[in-house]
Amino acid sequence: MKRDGQCLCGAVRVALAREPQAVNMCHCADCQRRTGAPFGMALWLMEADVTISGETRPFVHLSDKGRELTNRFCPNCGSTICFTAALNPGLIAIPAGLFADPDTPPPLRSVFEERRHPWVAVPEGATRLPRGRDG
Ligand SMILES: [Zn+2]
Ligand SMILES: [Zn+2]
Repeated sequence: MKRDGQCLCGAVRVALAREPQAVNMCHCADCQRRTGAPFGMALWLMEADVTISGETRPFVHLSDKGRELTNRFCPNCGSTICFTAALNPGLIAIPAGLFADPDTPPPLRSVFEERRHPWVAVPEGATRLPRGRDG
């Protein structure tokens, strides 16, 4: 199944060639600030399975463990288009919101639960981790 997404203004488009390998909801402070929402949700795929068209700009920052994280955003409307982590070479995360599609697969993993707003419900069966996958 192919999935097509776009930023708020439509200048940047994202196409997925296949279903994601992982779908995470992340409650970390960076995801909260990046999205303006109480958690972030992203689809993780191999970079080769994602086509991004349109201009994006990078924002590079460090995780709390000092690892490099790169967000790319639309310079016109500010939507996050993707992010990559030095910890996961070859993988790319696409924010679920770009698809604005209720048919987007639900999160299979809930990470950084130590920062979870207590009222945010996690889908039944999802793996729940207090921090990232490496603790
Ligand atoms: Zn845009
Ligand atoms: Zn996060």
